Amino acid sequence: MSIEVNLQKVKSIIPAHVKLIAVSKTHPVDLITEAYRLGQRAFGENRPQEMMQKAKELPADIEWHFIGNLQTNKVKYIAPFVHIIHSVDSLKLLVEIDKEARKNNRTISCLLEFHIAAEDSKSGLDLEGAINLLNHPNFKQLNNIKIIGVMGMATFTDNLKQIHSEFCLLNDIFVHLNKKFFAGNPDFREISMGMSGDFEIAIECGSTMVRIGTAIFGSRY
Ligand SMILES: *Cc1c(COP(=O)(O)O)cnc(C)c1O
Repeated sequence: MSIEVNLQKVKSIIPAHVKLIAVSKTHPVDLITEAYRLGQRAFGENRPQEMMQKAKELPADIEWHFIGNLQTNKVKYIAPFVHIIHSVDSLKLLVEIDKEARKNNRTISCLLEFHIAAEDSKSGLDLEGAINLLNHPNFKQLNNIKIIGVMGMATFTDNLKQIHSEFCLLNDIFVHLNKKFFAGNPDFREISMGMSGDFEIAIECGSTMVRIGTAIFGSRY
């Protein structure tokens, strides 16, 4: 199937209020260019250097979404241009993002990543960890980052009920944090959840951003 057909199919399922992030990790720039020509502007990557290299080669109006594990020593590669970092799971990382954002005279939008899946291999905060982070005195001194919502990945399973309950848990976490920490702050509004295999369930549970790779670009080798 072509990228054009795939993109059209995915877009026909996603409602207008949900943003599509085309996950282009591991795929070459010519595939990204093809999607770009079809109007796609938001792309997701999970390796800092790969994203930096692609950003250099591709049009400047692309929105680059960082969705992978981010080591503090690699924040510098993406800080000049990244649109949203979806995978913030510690105060230490946030402090580094803030530092690099300041160097670049920017404010970087970030999502707090939550561990909602059964697999230990997936990363992310739990609710208590997030509350500690948001209450930490050092957090309040970060002026070059903006927390705009939450992100999570469901368990890789064909148990649809389980996926549904994990995504709904992330929605509950969003509602809770919104009330306790972001009341009256319109910046806090995103729930990044849903991939190729589960994005329709994520949308049922309130997703505002889906991150879709395989269903657009085919499988990664
Ligand atoms: C790779 C990846 C995706 C996309 O997964 P597909 O199943 O290919 O759609 C989404 N989110 C994250 C965090 C990823 O690492």
